[in-house]
Amino acid sequence: MGNGIPPELPNLIGGEWVPAQAGEWFDNLSPHHGAVLCRVARSRGPDVAEAVAAARAAQQGWADTPPVQRGLILNAIVNEMGRRQQEIGDIVAAETGKSPAEGAGETGGAMQCGLFFASEGQRLYGRTTTSGTPNKYASTIREPRGVAALIIAANTPIANVAWKVFPALVCGNTAVLKAAEDTPATAWIFAEVAQSVGLPAGVLNVVQGLGDEAGAPLVAHEDIDVISFTGSSAVGRYIQRAAAERMVRISLELGGKNALVVCDDADLDKAVTWSMASAFTNAGQRCASGSRLIVFESIYPEFKAALLARTKELRVGPTNDDYLGAVINERQLTNMLSAVENARKDGAEILAGGHRLTDPGHANGFYMAPTLIAGVEPDAPISREELFGPIAILYRAENYNEALALTNRSPYGLTACIHTKSLHRAIHFARHANTGVVVVNAGTYGSEPHMPFGGRGLSGNGSREPGTEALDVYSELKDIYVNIDPEMLS
Ligand code: NAD
Repeated sequence: MGNGIPPELPNLIGGEWVPAQAGEWFDNLSPHHGAVLCRVARSRGPDVAEAVAAARAAQQGWADTPPVQRGLILNAIVNEMGRRQQEIGDIVAAETGKSPAEGAGETGGAMQCGLFFASEGQRLYGRTTTSGTPNKYASTIREPRGVAALIIAANTPIANVAWKVFPALVCGNTAVLKAAEDTPATAWIFAEVAQSVGLPAGVLNVVQGLGDEAGAPLVAHEDIDVISFTGSSAVGRYIQRAAAERMVRISLELGGKNALVVCDDADLDKAVTWSMASAFTNAGQRCASGSRLIVFESIYPEFKAALLARTKELRVGPTNDDYLGAVINERQLTNMLSAVENARKDGAEILAGGHRLTDPGHANGFYMAPTLIAGVEPDAPISREELFGPIAILYRAENYNEALALTNRSPYGLTACIHTKSLHRAIHFARHANTGVVVVNAGTYGSEPHMPFGGRGLSGNGSREPGTEALDVYSELKDIYVNIDPEMLS
């Protein structure tokens, strides 16, 4: 049906593409125009069980494959992704609502992540350390956990796949990937690429389906050794509870309500540019998007006027010339519209947007006008809840201390950004923002794949992916003590 997406997307289990056992399908809709892109296997418990069994069957063989060889296979996946980068990018664009250029760019980011973890096959360092006992030698090694359940969100689908699959596999785990229901084709093409370069059958299995029907049985499955989840804090909380019973290792990468502070000494033009980028690129669908813009009182009128003028000029649509595209689905759009409406009823001022785009060019797609809001309390629902769309709220701060306090007045703690020329403010902010990431003089997003990303509070459970730290999610450390006996030397 165009865009390289086949009409039907089955599951990948043990190297075979198979429909759901019950023969059920669901439709994947285009965010650009609402039409059906393809139909997708609607998996349930029995499909999940089959995928976990396939992953288990392949696990020992993969664990026994030397890490360097595992890395070489991952490297081959990266190379093939490079050869097919625009094809993958077009699929990402078709099912997310972003532009083909953004899709290809995101694929490039996913390849960077793959490159980093492919090379981990040559490292996977343990530690050699001291011992308090004579003739005793202490060291650590990393071992695979076993079968990994990988559950991801749709917002940056190829990056989300890469951030989990590459570290899981290089550590010697096999995996069951539960694709996001809105981006099944991205998972499909990644798995197809991986198969085409010789990833052994069963090492990566893909289960398509809905959260409660396919995700929940995966979380509950007794033969899963590690669960890595990227998604909402609500589902993350459920997974944490479900996993507690079995003490299974979990990594939760959850939501954000990230602040961008504009100080009175900031370069205003650049601060406006980065505020717009943080709030509106990827249609605001980033865990790291900048949804709270905290501006010093003395420059607030000037900043607001400049931001408003430029926001009203933003082009919204599916092409490379547009600044932002559609949001992922109708439900998400409806939720945002009702959050804005509730804020309006509570007295918020809607400075820009706040509505769906219904002109002929956008009418059938899931397009939200870039939205700026002011006049809400820091503890109002719209200030505290993640909306996950192109919506930002402006707040005034009397001074630096108030701006920092506002930054930290959130149940989330993922990223924060400050625009200032002051070294003192920059470093103080970096040390006192209660978040997992701080950025000085750019956007609230932009983490690199060799760095440990993650957040505090409702943003996660303290684990970090990707970067070297992701190895702690996907491998077990083992201490090894070797005692030698001097009497046995001769
Ligand atoms: P979501 O939590 O609704 O869904 C995410 C995934 O979980 C999907 O694959 C879904 O099918 C699955 N799921 C849903 N219910 C489940 C259940 N009961 N058991 C198991 N799996 C289930 O999230 P969403 O709305 O699709 O994604 C947006 C969220 O993801 C935002 O909160 C965003 O901030 C977050 N996110 C976080 C990061 C990060 O790295 N911290 C990155 C991207 C997105």
